[in-house]
Amino acid sequence: MLRLFRRDTSTHSPAHDEVDVSHEGVSYRVSLKRVTGARRFTLRVRAATRDVVLTMPMRGSLTAARDFAQRNAAWIAARLNRLPRIVPFRPGSIIPLRGDDHIITHQEAARGGIWTEAACEAPAPHMLHVACGLDHVPRRVSDFLKREAKRELEAAVKLHTNRLGFASRKVTVRDTTSRWGSCSASGSLNFSWRLVMSPPFVLDYLAAHEVAHLVHMNHSDKFWALTHELAPQTERAEAWLRAHGAELHRYGVEPDAAPPDRVNSR
Ligand SMILES: [Zn+2]
Repeated sequence: MLRLFRRDTSTHSPAHDEVDVSHEGVSYRVSLKRVTGARRFTLRVRAATRDVVLTMPMRGSLTAARDFAQRNAAWIAARLNRLPRIVPFRPGSIIPLRGDDHIITHQEAARGGIWTEAACEAPAPHMLHVACGLDHVPRRVSDFLKREAKRELEAAVKLHTNRLGFASRKVTVRDTTSRWGSCSASGSLNFSWRLVMSPPFVLDYLAAHEVAHLVHMNHSDKFWALTHELAPQTERAEAWLRAHGAELHRYGVEPDAAPPDRVNSR
């Protein structure tokens, strides 16, 4: 994240502006987001959505915003180039499921369905067979992963609530980009369905983490002590998320549905 102090109340433009900046002949689209109370220009490249957003004061000048983005065009280019490539849920794509690589294969079959098949030999990926019309493969895979995620997270949450003597909780899965899990005031637990792609010890840790929030609604020492008790692999799981968490967002992104991460100026 980059910040620069800037105040400019001379012009006012409608919301949802976009500007294009260029670096080494490649042009990049930057959406401008006017934020009440913002006093700075802040430029962000969001890994999950691969878009570039410049937040700015409500009455900030469009020219100043464009100048700021253009001055940081090299930074935008570097950040975008560092992001992992997207992997759509299409036949031939290799996606992780419970931490193991699976290659998506399309099956022409009379009856629809989706199922996994273990690899014959170790280095080859497992297979995720999808039987449906070709156009429906991405949707089928994403529905399958969400279903699996919900099932596994429900089981993990149940395990940990049982250990604490609590009633089981309502579990919902979403496609969250800022947090892997959250715990509402009413005690329902929400998770990113993408956790089903991570190794099982990571998913189990996230379930334990949110269940521990049912006791401690903070990240105090007591909270961490309880989390470690429920999930002795806490450190390892946190380290895994730091190293690989962002990568989980590259799966299931359709090239045409994603905002362009670069637009050629020529
Ligand atoms: Zn937490």
